[in-house]
Amino acid sequence: MTPLPMHSTIGMLGGGQLGRMAAMAAARLGYRVHVFTTKEKAPSTQVTDLVTVGAWEDRGALTSFASSCDVITFEFENIPVDAVRHLDALCPVHPGPRALKICQDRALEKSMLAGASIETTRWQEVSSLEELEDAASKVGLPAILKTAKFGYDGHGQIKILSRDALASAWKSVGEQRSILEAFVDFERELSIVAARAKGGQMSFYPLVENQHTEDHILSKTLAPAPKTTPALAAQAVKIAKRIAESLDYVGVFAVEFFQTREGNLLVNEIAPRPHNSGHWTMDGCATSQFEQQVRAVAGLPLGETSPLFKTTMINLLGEEILERDTFLALPNRRVHIYGKVGLRPGRKMGHVNILEPLG
Ligand code: AMP
Repeated sequence: MTPLPMHSTIGMLGGGQLGRMAAMAAARLGYRVHVFTTKEKAPSTQVTDLVTVGAWEDRGALTSFASSCDVITFEFENIPVDAVRHLDALCPVHPGPRALKICQDRALEKSMLAGASIETTRWQEVSSLEELEDAASKVGLPAILKTAKFGYDGHGQIKILSRDALASAWKSVGEQRSILEAFVDFERELSIVAARAKGGQMSFYPLVENQHTEDHILSKTLAPAPKTTPALAAQAVKIAKRIAESLDYVGVFAVEFFQTREGNLLVNEIAPRPHNSGHWTMDGCATSQFEQQVRAVAGLPLGETSPLFKTTMINLLGEEILERDTFLALPNRRVHIYGKVGLRPGRKMGHVNILEPLG
C-alpha cells in the first residue's frame, strides 16, 4: 500500500489519553489528527485543533467527520459498531468493524479464541440466573462473572465464591448478558503489544509483566518482563499472531495473559488499540506503540520494537499526579501527563517511565 502522504488527516474515534498520545505521535510524522469525541474538553482535544464533539448516533456528524479524514482509527473499544460501519463505508477504519465487534464482546472474543485453538480459562456465556446456575456447575467456583460488554479495569465484574452468591452477583451485573469465567490462581499477569500492517507483516514488543491495584487498575508495568524464557516469549508471539490473523487485523493491539503456576499462558482479553501496558514504549523503545499505531494505519513500514532500556512504567492514579514534580527532580524518569481535570481515586492521570540500562 502507498503510505499516506504527509499533511493527511487521521481520524481518531475517542478523546482519551490514548488518542492524545497517538495524536502527538502522528504530528511528529507529519499528519493531522481529527478527533471525534462525545465529551467536551477530552484530553486529546488539547493537542489538536480538529475536533468534532458529537454523539455516535449522529450520522450527519459522522459523515462530515469521515469526509475530512484519509483513514480512521480508534482509541477505545466501546464505540457502537454501527457507527464504525457507517464510517468505514465512507473512509477506511482500521482496525475494521469486525475486529471491533469481536473485541468489545467478551463472549464473541472468547469464542474467536477457542476457534483459533488459543487457551483461556474455562468459561460460559449466561443470559439469565438459570443459565448462571448451570454455568457455575460446569465452570466451577470460585469464578468471575463479567458483563459481555462495556467492562474495563474490573468494572462490570464480580467474583463468586459460593452458589449462595449467584443471585446477588446476577443482580450486581445488572442482569445483563455476561460470561462466567473460572477463577485463575495465576502466578502473574503478562501482556504483549503487537502491530499488524495492511500487507500482513507484524511486529511484537517484548512480553511485559503487569501489576494491578486491589481494584484491578494497572499500577506498574515491568518491561521486558523479568524471568521470561525464550519459549514463553515465543508462545506469546505465536498467540498474538494467530489472533491478528483470525481478526484480519490492521493496527496495534494488546493481548493480556495470565501465567499459570505451571508456566502456561492463558489469554484473559484482547485490547484492539494501544494499551496501558505499552506506555513504557514511549521512552523504552525507538518506536512507541502510538507511533506504531500511526504507522500501521497510515501504511508506513512498522518501526523497531526491541527495547533500548529496562523500563518500569508507573501509572499516576488520582492524587498521585500531585507527585509530578518529585518525579521530575529524579534522574532517568520521563513524565507523561494526560491533561485531565478532576481528581478521582484510581483515575488514570498520567504515567512515569523509569529508565535503566538493559541488564
Ligand atoms: P479484566 O477486566 O478481564 O482485564 O479483569 C481485570 C483484572 O481482574 C485482571 O487483570 C485480573 O487481575 C483479574 N481477573 C480477571 N479475570 C480473572 C480470572 N478469571 N481469574 C483471576 N483473576 C481475574
